[in-house]
Amino acid sequence: MKVFLFNPPTPDGRGFTREGRCTQESGVWATQWPPVSLATAAAMLGADGHDVFCIDFPAVAMGIEDLQAFIASHRPDMAFWSTGSPTLLHDLHIADIIKDVSVSTLTGVMGTHVTVMAEATLKASSVDVVIRGEPEGTIKNICNNREHLHDILGISFREQGGKIINNPDADWLLPGDIPAPSWHLLDLTPYRLPLSGRPFLIVAPVRGCPFRCSFCTAPIYYGRKIRKRPVQNVIKEMENNINRHGIREFLIWADTFTADRDYTQQFCRGIIDAGLGITWTCNSRVDTVDSETLELMKKAGLWMISYGLESGNDTILDGIKKKINLTQSRKAVRMAHDMGIKVAGHFILGFPGETRKTMEKTLRFALDIPLDIAQFYAAAPFPGTNLYDEALLQGWFKNKNRDSSLFSSPLSQNEAVLELPGLPATAVDSFRRRAYRKFYGRPKIITGLLSMVEPAAALQFMEGMKRFLKWTR
Ligand code: SF4
Repeated sequence: MKVFLFNPPTPDGRGFTREGRCTQESGVWATQWPPVSLATAAAMLGADGHDVFCIDFPAVAMGIEDLQAFIASHRPDMAFWSTGSPTLLHDLHIADIIKDVSVSTLTGVMGTHVTVMAEATLKASSVDVVIRGEPEGTIKNICNNREHLHDILGISFREQGGKIINNPDADWLLPGDIPAPSWHLLDLTPYRLPLSGRPFLIVAPVRGCPFRCSFCTAPIYYGRKIRKRPVQNVIKEMENNINRHGIREFLIWADTFTADRDYTQQFCRGIIDAGLGITWTCNSRVDTVDSETLELMKKAGLWMISYGLESGNDTILDGIKKKINLTQSRKAVRMAHDMGIKVAGHFILGFPGETRKTMEKTLRFALDIPLDIAQFYAAAPFPGTNLYDEALLQGWFKNKNRDSSLFSSPLSQNEAVLELPGLPATAVDSFRRRAYRKFYGRPKIITGLLSMVEPAAALQFMEGMKRFLKWTR
């Protein structure tokens, strides 16, 4: 079978990552991520003898016309693409574009939003199949069994008569069966770290998150059980990335990489023993790190750790079920900072219970702890989360006319959509701008950032900063 996997072009041509719970526009702090789900699916399909094509359209600045041209010239038997809440309606419209050119191509979409809203997705678009949850194994099963969609777990699809069928959920992949992504199918040139401009790749050693944060879609894509790939597989994958692609910088992608202390330590020892000489960054929870593990991580090449700090108020942290507190946050940030590891803190403003006063408290907290980078997002009630259910129940959505499943206005962490009692969405957005101004307006932060900027990325950084400063005004 000829199979086409892609990250679709964006409406405005800007960079855009659509990867499970992470759907983000590229900007000065957020770079385009290599599409690890697509490349992993490609590896599974390649092993089964399929003819696979993979394009990350936003990364290589290709648009809708390029997509049409590709479909017309290659006529794939199947086309699967990733979707994200901020660009959802646009992403679904891709099915019409494909069908216009090649009506026999089976079309399938993946992503957290369509997983939760599978029926609504099929009703609102001409997509043939919705892949629910973890996509790679299900894509492989569809490609190996296209004529028998009724037998394939983890999909929703439309029968010929128009009836929508929801098959039972698929099992999660066994960690030992998750292959190394087929990066050679993609143009890797655009994937660069934001400040250094060095090429990087994603490595995903762990899938799944047992925590139940009220705003997070992670469990929809990878489940609640932590699945750890054998360390030797991951080390081999990184060795291959070094030898084949010359990559020595990695983003270790996991819902919470440090959730299993023993595994984290084994992973680090594996890197050290293999003498990989790499550098990497990862995300983490403040209650899953300790000094011994952090020391080992640093020795293995960790240069920056990203913590989901979310709020500077314990009451709000309790409300969102983050199960951390400010004392833990302060300690984890300080610990990494004192070891010489750069620290990024991620905050979300506009959760239930938020007021102007609590936002101020969050900002004060962010300014008070030794962070090198901070992100201030707007709380986004993504379908499938408790926050979404609560927002719907309370009537907090800004756009009262939207339907309850597919949004007529974009849903992203870059624009507040919740009108909380006493706190309009506009107040959250203007506070976010103020928070960025305050955080990055400090000489020590600017000096720290400039020390990380390398010549290869200097121009891009300056342009990004200009856009960013204009936005914060
Ligand atoms: S710990 Fe992180 S990945 Fe897990 S549910 Fe909470 S926010 Fe999501």
